[in-house]
Amino acid sequence: MPEKVVIIGSGPAGWTAAIYASRANLNPLVFEGAITGENQQKGTLPLGQLNLTTEVENFPAWPYVDSAVLEQFSRSALPPDRYANLQGYYQGKHAHQGKRSAFGPEQMEYMRQQAVNFGTRIITDDIVQVDFQKHPFVLTALDGQKVEALTVIVATGARANYLGIPSEDRFKNNGVSACAVCDGALPRFRNKPLVVIGGGDSAVEESTYLTKFASTVHLVHRRDQLRASQIMRQRALASPKITPRWNRVLEEVLGTDKDGVTGVRLKSTIDQKTEELACSGVFLAIGHTPNTDFLGGQVALDEKGYIRLTKQGRTNTSVEGVFAAGDVADSYYRQAVTAAGTGCMAALDAERWLA
Ligand code: NAP
Repeated sequence: MPEKVVIIGSGPAGWTAAIYASRANLNPLVFEGAITGENQQKGTLPLGQLNLTTEVENFPAWPYVDSAVLEQFSRSALPPDRYANLQGYYQGKHAHQGKRSAFGPEQMEYMRQQAVNFGTRIITDDIVQVDFQKHPFVLTALDGQKVEALTVIVATGARANYLGIPSEDRFKNNGVSACAVCDGALPRFRNKPLVVIGGGDSAVEESTYLTKFASTVHLVHRRDQLRASQIMRQRALASPKITPRWNRVLEEVLGTDKDGVTGVRLKSTIDQKTEELACSGVFLAIGHTPNTDFLGGQVALDEKGYIRLTKQGRTNTSVEGVFAAGDVADSYYRQAVTAAGTGCMAALDAERWLA
């Protein structure tokens, strides 16, 4: 029997689609992504980009609450094996005290559990190939298993970009990162100067976060104005630990195999002059690429590679019965709450399409 609804992806869009589809008795199957070294490297592990972030201050329903209350909530809401993924926030040397919003990983565990509670089935694997030429559709997972589906909701999100210069690649995991939250607390970054590249919300958020560990943060931007939202921009520029380095781009990451990153060479976008800065880490925050390669060109994409939605205000794609939700189809808003909203829409669209 083909599946009624298969959901690919496990960020806010995927789990919201799963909650709605399971409550509509569609018995959805979620491919939440594989836990592989390649996904670790690319930043495409299960639970999406929110799982790589700190506090989620802009998702409605998370006013500050005592961290101990969130611990109790997690204990009560999650089975022990999932609670274990969050334990480091509550116990040990990285334990948090005082009031805060939920962290991204907490929110994602809660969303996943909410879908499980209504009967969502989950496979911890990637879909690596799709056949949308026939119906039921055929999906092939990384481990080779094939699944037939009457409808598919693509919610695979987007991943962080790198500049693509050889020295950046050479020092990945040895001082170069695209995720301050994942890597910022590592000993090599403590009390050392760090460099963040970019001028959007991610760049200022990562810079602000890194001030907890770094002696100073150089925020390198190719223009003299940040793209980031006003509140986050103000917060970053008010920090005595953050020094903006306007009108500059990263030309090369400097270092040795033994010591990893020891500095950067920056180039002026105005007069091409170069300068070197000492640092122990470089954090890239220069935007994202949608995770659409596995679709093999069978679904229409826009010029940036995001899935093109074909009906105004709906989640339909160019293939009848295939719907898209979240960042994979949104290069504009790219927020957790909008992703969740479109996940709901995709489940309702799939339900109506099946009916
Ligand atoms: P973004 O808004 O696309 O910003 C990317 C930044 O990187 C821009 O400043 C861009 O410069 C720069 N850039 C791009 N390519 C570059 C290159 N090759 N060399 C040097 N610089 C380069 O991406 P984002 O900051 O990841 O944000 C994505 C979305 O998520 C946004 O909608 C944002 O509001 C949202 N977000 C929200 C929060 C929050 O609310 N807490 C946190 C993070 C992200 P230019 O400005 O010159 O184009």
